[in-house]
Amino acid sequence: MSAPTHAPERRPMPPDLPPRRPMSPQRRRRLRRTLILGGLGFLLLAWVLSRVFGGDGTASAADAAGGPAGAASATGAASPSASSASASASSSATPGSDPTTVPQQGDGKLTMVTVPGTDTTRTGKTITFGVDVEGGLGIDAAGFASQVRTILSDERGWEVADGVHFVALDPAKRAAGATPDVRVTLASPALTDQLCAPLQTLGKVSCNRHGRAVINAMRWASGVEFYTDLGLYRIYLINHEVGHGLSHPHQNCPTPGAKAPIMLQQTLGLEGCQPWPYPTTGG
Ligand SMILES: [Zn+2]
Repeated sequence: MSAPTHAPERRPMPPDLPPRRPMSPQRRRRLRRTLILGGLGFLLLAWVLSRVFGGDGTASAADAAGGPAGAASATGAASPSASSASASASSSATPGSDPTTVPQQGDGKLTMVTVPGTDTTRTGKTITFGVDVEGGLGIDAAGFASQVRTILSDERGWEVADGVHFVALDPAKRAAGATPDVRVTLASPALTDQLCAPLQTLGKVSCNRHGRAVINAMRWASGVEFYTDLGLYRIYLINHEVGHGLSHPHQNCPTPGAKAPIMLQQTLGLEGCQPWPYPTTGG
């Protein structure tokens, strides 16, 4: 970590001003302290933002405070529990024919996608949601929206965990001015960085910002090493970022070997927990 290294610009002094007094040692010390404290404050703020508001950023934000990016990561195979989940989950969130790599940049345009299927019959506080997909990614937009629907409808999902009821808002209603409570957005790494700023996603991770669960298409397409099953990782991604939209902050692994809490930043590491892509521990 370093203090800002912004060097004062040296300009010739205009002739009609009195000569500048040299800075006293005390003043110089005060200035240095102010700069260092200011830099620390900024890094702390960035870290707090990322912990609370869903910047699943790594690098500077997390590293600054010895945060989750520095945490030990559990590698190795998926746990038996995750494997058993994969059997039931893989049919609902299969990687399908989507590419495993995506361009760094799409066309920069988000299209509101009709979400196939119907809302569940569960009752609870209504949370409207919509799905947006950037063009030029080579990913089937309707297929993505369908997987989002399936994940949000799952009995291990937020409807059960939080007692909410997701209602899809179709593009016509949205075009007429209705804004969904949760917008699940599939974006290229470049657009993810734009939508997530000032949270630092660095083209590599996802975030939730202003009610938008921004799913980095690079992660959607390629996953992370902790998940041997890409379908399960995708379920984690959606549930984690939508969890922020439901005001859930980040969590740590409570006990090594436990199923990872959904609000653990599982993209960055598992802290000794087993990968687990749902907000409930059942199933
Ligand atoms: Zn997060």
